[in-house]
Amino acid sequence: MAQPKFSTHLGMVDILPDEVGKWQAIERIIHEEARKFNFEEIRTPIMEQTELIARGVGQLTDIVTKEMFAFERGDDHYVLRPECTAPVVRAFVEHHLEQRGGSQNLYYIGPMFRAERPQKGRQRQFHQFGAEIIGPDDPIADVEIISLMLSIYNRVGITNTTLKINSVGDPESRAAYKEALKNYFRPHLDEMSEISRERFEKNPMRILDSKEEEDQEFIAKAPVITEYLSEETEEHYARVKTHLDELEISYTEDPHLVRGLDYYTRTAFELISPDLGAQDALGGGGRYDLLVEEIGGQHTPAVGFAAGIERLLIACEELDISLGEEKSVDIYIVTIGENARTWALNHLPKLRANGISAAMDYMGRSVKAQMKDADRENAKYTIIVGDNELKEGKFTLRDMKASEEEALDFENIVERLKKKV
Ligand code: AMP
Repeated sequence: MAQPKFSTHLGMVDILPDEVGKWQAIERIIHEEARKFNFEEIRTPIMEQTELIARGVGQLTDIVTKEMFAFERGDDHYVLRPECTAPVVRAFVEHHLEQRGGSQNLYYIGPMFRAERPQKGRQRQFHQFGAEIIGPDDPIADVEIISLMLSIYNRVGITNTTLKINSVGDPESRAAYKEALKNYFRPHLDEMSEISRERFEKNPMRILDSKEEEDQEFIAKAPVITEYLSEETEEHYARVKTHLDELEISYTEDPHLVRGLDYYTRTAFELISPDLGAQDALGGGGRYDLLVEEIGGQHTPAVGFAAGIERLLIACEELDISLGEEKSVDIYIVTIGENARTWALNHLPKLRANGISAAMDYMGRSVKAQMKDADRENAKYTIIVGDNELKEGKFTLRDMKASEEEALDFENIVERLKKKV
């Protein structure tokens, strides 16, 4: 085959018709679980102001410093959203959603963009689903967010996961902890990776995120944030754990879990799957009590999670979980001649109006080719329509699976299929 002239950009992937059933199945589960938890969907634009993302995600994060797809047009700075928490919070502030009263329980599904080096489970355009509870400070909200995330994976059948949790403290505890980390890492810096040396200056907590081999022995013995938590934060964290215990949600405490984004405070969590390989995080989230204010709203505590759909699908594949139905059509009308084609076109709406999916040949193919097409389309029934059938008003309805045939008039065909679909 000739080399195509155009292809997708690096790390941007087409979701082809044969795969789309899985996506629709996942999306359906997300919508249904979110509804059970009383969350409302929110849809924000794909592009945001660059400044919003820089503030919301954090000026020093890899996402902002290296991975943004950004451009200017006139005086405006556009960026393809790399995540959706900052956009949701922007919408919350911009539209005064707090005036709707109570906590705002929001969820989203959509494409995100990061200019990362593509590999398995890591793309430049990928899809996330996520949820945010904006308003409450109470650990109950943290636990509800975690429960919603887990319930989606449970519905899909991905249960072999590890929930890691930590508390990343409030600004005061973080300041004390950063100081402690700096004091600890300083004498070892010469032996550590360049990236960690850089992070030492900018945000020492992110050294704990390092995947570099030479850093690991130092990270392993580093002080842990849980020793620096203020009393209030410690109590909040303890209550999160108590509620998780009560709900019998198992978790592992990981005092080195800091996550890449700067706006997290207190609870942080990550859901890990052993079925994913190197990119083993299915999703993660936490509290971001400082973000609403950072973006220009009133101080409003909030907690959320984000998870990747591609990674969820990789896990499904590894676990042999099949999602979505095979494509099929209830009835395929095989036509012989022009009159039959016109008749078919005019009778398709009646079938569809009764909830029956119906197809016909658009390409003037032979009966044999149409039967083959019906097979390929996985048609449950076929009828063959020619001048004789039209004259007599009777059509042979063929049940493709049972290989049974019956001559019926069109009204009876509709009635028959209505009962079956
Ligand atoms: P983050 O916003 O970085 O915490 O990411 C949350 C989740 O989104 C991750 O756990 C992944 O499942 C998914 N994710 C993040 N970046 C990518 C990417 N480049 N490609 C595919 N999935 C991603």
